[in-house]
Amino acid sequence: MQVFKHILDIQAFIGDAKLLNKKIGFVPTMGALHEGHLSLIERASKECDIVIMSIFINPTQFNNQEDFDKYPRTLAQDLELLKSVPCDVVFTPTVTEMYENPLLEVAPLNIGYLDTVLEGSRRPGHYAGVVMIVEKLLKAVSPDAIYMGLKDYQQVKVIDHLIKTKELPIQLVGCHTLREPNGVAMSSRNMRLSAAGKETAGQIYKALSYIRENKGSISPNELCVMAIHQFLPKPPFEMEYLEIRHAHDLSGLESDQWQEDIDYVVLIAAWLEGVRLIDNLEL
Ligand code: AMP
Repeated sequence: MQVFKHILDIQAFIGDAKLLNKKIGFVPTMGALHEGHLSLIERASKECDIVIMSIFINPTQFNNQEDFDKYPRTLAQDLELLKSVPCDVVFTPTVTEMYENPLLEVAPLNIGYLDTVLEGSRRPGHYAGVVMIVEKLLKAVSPDAIYMGLKDYQQVKVIDHLIKTKELPIQLVGCHTLREPNGVAMSSRNMRLSAAGKETAGQIYKALSYIRENKGSISPNELCVMAIHQFLPKPPFEMEYLEIRHAHDLSGLESDQWQEDIDYVVLIAAWLEGVRLIDNLEL
């Protein structure tokens, strides 16, 4: 496994790989790696010849300075963990390298509707930061495919919008969410929960599963109210949203009724022990 810090170094490596017609798979992360991240590498390695992971904590996507300051930074441990999976290259640029190198200049993207709902409306500027850094990383790495977790469902939709709008010749692969045995979606933020908090967080998956199991029998709004009442009491939970939306574009439901032949997704953001947790389940 090779580690590159500089754009010119990784581009030289990639240039050689492209001459040999190698398919390049790319997994962008912010580090503090867990099995969920590793599963993206595993998937990419099955479909590509060379797998590149980036580890970069992107300051512009944090709309809250405290969240940025508290974000776990565990690079040495991450590099150790990556030895257990088929990762060929790790790209660990600095902020200066990503934001001041003219090679990676990109024009801002109008994110549109996706920036006005759910995570977009609660975290102003978050997706602008995400699309900016992902496009820069795609410029640095020029992959054939990018692998992203459906744990961040809306983010996958935003990157899909980026790729389509800018006509980037890159395949986007959305990968399923890895969970702890109690259902908690693996996340770097879970490190900030106490052992009891990690157990309690399992209630989130129970609430989502309850909605999936009862879809159709009770109206969408009523089902959300019941799920919150049954599984996510305040305290310890502080709910930001629990919403059922159309899966393909995250638009809201026209009425409080289920319709045949429509794909739905339920999405949640909730606070527990001062940690903001997000999750979702396709229904
Ligand atoms: P992050 O480091 O949090 O920015 O995540 C990097 C990538 O890993 C994103 O595409 C996430 O959606 C994905 N990811 C995070 N948690 C999980 C998980 N539990 N299962 C699968 N993918 C995940």
